[in-house]
Amino acid sequence: MAQKPPLPNRKLKPATIAVHDGALRSQFGETSEALFLTQGYVYESMEQAEARFNNTDPGFQYSRFSNPTVSMFEQRMASLEGAEDARGTATGMAAVTASLLSWVNAGDHIVAAKALFGSCRYIVEDLAPRFGITTTLVNGADLDAWRAAVKPNTKAFFIETPTNPTLEIYDIAAIAEIAHKAGAKLIVDNVFATPIFQKPLALGADIVCYSATKHIDGQGRVLGGVVLGSKEFISGPLQMFVRQTGPSLSPFNAWVMLKGLETLALRVEKQAANAAKIADFLAGHPKIARVFYPFRDDHPQVALARKQMTSGSTLVAFDVKGAKAEAFRFGGALEIVKITNNLGDAKSLITHPATTTHQRLAPEARAELGISDALLRLSVGLEDADDLIEDLDGALRTI
Ligand SMILES: *Cc1c(COP(=O)(O)O)cnc(C)c1O
Repeated sequence: MAQKPPLPNRKLKPATIAVHDGALRSQFGETSEALFLTQGYVYESMEQAEARFNNTDPGFQYSRFSNPTVSMFEQRMASLEGAEDARGTATGMAAVTASLLSWVNAGDHIVAAKALFGSCRYIVEDLAPRFGITTTLVNGADLDAWRAAVKPNTKAFFIETPTNPTLEIYDIAAIAEIAHKAGAKLIVDNVFATPIFQKPLALGADIVCYSATKHIDGQGRVLGGVVLGSKEFISGPLQMFVRQTGPSLSPFNAWVMLKGLETLALRVEKQAANAAKIADFLAGHPKIARVFYPFRDDHPQVALARKQMTSGSTLVAFDVKGAKAEAFRFGGALEIVKITNNLGDAKSLITHPATTTHQRLAPEARAELGISDALLRLSVGLEDADDLIEDLDGALRTI
């Protein structure tokens, strides 16, 4: 039988948890977590199969419900986040969808910030209303707007902070308080902050979700997601939704994520240090009109960022002087930084949100979110910061 390798019975730091927690060791005594690439599990008897299905015999039944490698990832994520429980999903979007639709019903109301990852905005703005769930979108930084949006049937608040792509910061503790007063739950998509830099549950959020595709894998390989929260929620409605509708995390991807977690703290700390250095470089550059970085003193919410995060994040956004033509010329002249819409990778990646991730929005909606044609979003990788600065400087010379 598999065993949990013992860990000291005291509070461990995130980097230690991310290396060790949740491991299950088989009878072979392997050092590295095993990859259980199996769909099903063999029962010793018909009686055991019956007991497994009526929950009197603990154990695995089918990998759409649970799998040992996926369970290791879930346990490690729950410990890292300080959550009672976690459930892995096939993608970050599966995590967001499940965190809402597993328990919100027709006739209920959701309030969400306008500044959301494109697909998250689709879920709350287009998909949920098709099933009789109404949505109000608000400016997430305006606490009065949250209060004013509450209705008697409001069940969920949904935010992402820092936001994509302009790295706005929303006050998790204050928004959680408004949600709780209204009898609603606050869901936080914590992708940009990572579990290393921000702990939404400790600030009052009820449910946290991640695209593990981003920093948790961190090396651009596999898709995955995770939802975290109370044992009651995760093993109740969330588990039922995932088990019956099937957005389950593949054991292979869970194994890659487990290995990713081992280096998560190291990677994001280095990436954030690079990002801070690059933000300072860009802010002093004559071809740059504006820099968005949460820990810089010119960020409008720097005090709040420093209160609820332990780092300014691995992303930097900026407006070049000019418009689309200048942004395109700059992006096209980069030699180390790659053009792609992804983020959180060891490789530095650049995106022009107005023509890619936020193309679907009307120009007025983009303007409202501060997404100009001159805006670029840089996901800072693990390269040497000086090489990246030289690359950016060279490309800025072309405009
Ligand atoms: C990428 C991302 C998602 C979606 O994750 P996938 O793994 O691509 O499905 C959701 N929210 C945010 C903030 C993201 O960056």
